[in-house]
Amino acid sequence: MRPLAYARVDTVDDAVATVVTGPGRAFLAGGTTEVDLWRLGVTAPELLVDINDVPLAGVEETADGGVRIGALARMSDVAGAPAIRQRFPGLAQALLLGASEQLRNMASMGGNLCQRVRCAYFRDTATACNKRDPGSGCSALHGFNRGHAILGTSEHCIATHPSDAAVALVALDAVVQTVGENRSRNIAIDDFFLLPADTPHLEHPLEYGDFITAIDVPGLPLARTSHYLKLRDRTSYEFALVSVFAAAHVDGGFIRDVRLALGGVGTKPWRARRAEEILLGRPATSQFFREAAEAELADAVPRTYNGFKVELATRAIVRALDQTIAGGTG
Ligand code: SF4
Repeated sequence: MRPLAYARVDTVDDAVATVVTGPGRAFLAGGTTEVDLWRLGVTAPELLVDINDVPLAGVEETADGGVRIGALARMSDVAGAPAIRQRFPGLAQALLLGASEQLRNMASMGGNLCQRVRCAYFRDTATACNKRDPGSGCSALHGFNRGHAILGTSEHCIATHPSDAAVALVALDAVVQTVGENRSRNIAIDDFFLLPADTPHLEHPLEYGDFITAIDVPGLPLARTSHYLKLRDRTSYEFALVSVFAAAHVDGGFIRDVRLALGGVGTKPWRARRAEEILLGRPATSQFFREAAEAELADAVPRTYNGFKVELATRAIVRALDQTIAGGTG
């Protein structure tokens, strides 16, 4: 029996103050991952600070044609918001393809970004895991690594980031708003996710007590015809083997602007910048999509059981771009 205290707050300031005044404290929003990890003994908070009464659950349209998503907005509410469906259909699809309906009704957007990896060794406290127990080793390197990452890996961790929504948000250049004890910050979402390198236990540039208040998604006209493709072992309640967020503006048969990001293959939601650069100004044909995809995967480091992801991701990029361009004049 592990003792666990509980507190409930209704303002950001109270939430931050309650956490920073003692060790072993954590925010509790939807709890869809946090409670599992506590039960498994992966985490051991002394106090959970329930933030569900903090009024940050809205989705507001912004003057630049974008949206501000409150950190406590539920995944299902964001997916159903008219502004998201009309302006960012690929984000709505990514949200609806994540988790199960029950989990989407509970899970918050801030929690979605902060969710921990689904590596089985991370959750099994009898095994070595650098992310859970720094310096202990990585059981996945020579273990069952079929679902693990091929991009952004290190010899210390190869776990994939599990979020679908984050893949879309990375492609859309979202900005994460945070408030801490003595500061507030706007963090570009690509910087919000850290590569494992030598410190896989550090996943975000957050300090103890930092509170995510909102996710700003800038207006981007081509996002109105965006698309999210998710490939997985079964068609619901399953994480991606490979996923692709794609948005493109095609004029006269040539690609004038494009956004691409990958899920299921990177240790962070993977912005495919190399592929984007190759595609700009090229004819919008499958031949060039394939060339760009191969360039993006050129640095992939497959392990014993996940080599299939290289070709699967290559084909998924081609298919997602084909579908995106076929679905609109974007
Ligand atoms: Fe832990 Fe990462 Fe290795 Fe999984 S891949 S066992 S999370 S260090």
